Formats: sequence, structure tokens, C-alpha cells
Amino acid sequence: MKLKLVEFKREPKKCICPGCGLKQRFKSNGRYFKTIKDLSMDKPLKLKAEVLRAKCLNQACSLKSFTR
Ligand SMILES: [Zn+2]
Repeated sequence: MKLKLVEFKREPKKCICPGCGLKQRFKSNGRYFKTIKDLSMDKPLKLKAEVLRAKCLNQACSLKSFTR
């Protein structure tokens, strides 16, 4: 199985929290890599995607952090 590395390094300036719906400045709370299997092609492919974790700036929010 082929391994294809895909990186998304650009951080967004603005983001919306799915927990409270607050539109806010993107505040990074770390990142991790997620492996995605793509079986839609003849040869199965593994994709590595960077997932950014954002911190919610709303103190009343129950989610605290979310990924986008
Ligand atoms: Zn929130």
C-alpha cells in the first residue's frame, strides 16, 4: 500500500466553534496527524492529513477545544 503524505500547514485566521457557534480568532491548541485510507482508486492509498486543534475563546463554552 502506497503512503502519500498530505500536509495542511496554513492555520486559518478565523474559525467558528461548533459548540457555541462563536466566530473567533483561531487559537491553536496543538495538532495531530490523521491517517485516511482512500479506497476510491484502483490502488488503495493512505493519506496523512494534519488536523488542527483550536481552542474556544468562549469561557462559557462546554467544548473548550475543537478540531477543524
Ligand atoms: Zn465554543
